Amino acid sequence: MMFVVWRILQYLLPFLEKEQYNLSSACRLNPENNMFKDQELQKDNVRPSQWQCLYCKKTFRSEDYLDKHMDNRHYAMLDLNSKRCLADICGAVHCDHADSVAKATTKKRCNRAAVIKNKHLCEALANECFPSKEGATALRLNEFFLRQFCDSHTCDGSAKHFPRGSGRRKNKSLYMALCLFVIILLGIFYLAVYLYQRDMNGDASSLKRLRQHPILKAQKSKKF
Ligand SMILES: [Zn+2]
Repeated sequence: MMFVVWRILQYLLPFLEKEQYNLSSACRLNPENNMFKDQELQKDNVRPSQWQCLYCKKTFRSEDYLDKHMDNRHYAMLDLNSKRCLADICGAVHCDHADSVAKATTKKRCNRAAVIKNKHLCEALANECFPSKEGATALRLNEFFLRQFCDSHTCDGSAKHFPRGSGRRKNKSLYMALCLFVIILLGIFYLAVYLYQRDMNGDASSLKRLRQHPILKAQKSKKF
C-alpha cells in the first residue's frame, strides 16, 4: 500500500519537471520527507523485467517483488526519524484506487464520510505542496492536482481518476516504438509476398512464351 504512493509520486514527477517546480519541505509529497527514501534509492531497475536490491544485490522480476523483499528483509533501513509516512496521505491521493487497479479487485460501496474526509485531505495537500501565493506555476499545479486527484473524491461514480493520463512518457514512447516496429515488420512481410508473387507470375509467363517459341513448336511436331 505504502509504495503505491511512490508510484503516485512517479506519476506526478513528469508534470513537475515540465513546470520546473520543486516541492517545498513543507509538502508531504516531497520525497525528502519520506521514511522510504533510503529504500527507494536502493532499488535499481536494471532492465524492464529486472529489479535489483542494492543492499544485498538480489534480483527480482518485478518492482512489487522487490518492494515485498524490502518490507521483509530491510525493514531496519526505514528512516523512522523522519516520522513522515506517505501512507498517512494515501486516502487523499487514491492509492486505494491504484492498488485496486493493480490487483483488479471489485468495486466497494462508497463511504460518503470517508470520501468527504479524503477530499479535504486532498485539498489540504494541494495547498501545502502548491501554495497559490507562490505564483503562477504553483497556482497552475494546484489546479492540476485538484482536477487529477481531488475532484474524483465523490460518490456519484461519474468522476474519473487521473483524467490527464498516466503521465508516464517513457512507457508511451516505448509503446510507440513497438507499434512502429510492428508496422515496419508488416511492411517487409507484404513486400516479400508481393516480390514472390511477381517472380512467380514472371516465371509462368516466360515459360508460356518459351512454349510458344517456333523452334520448340517445331520440335514438338517432329516427335509426333
Ligand atoms: Zn535485499
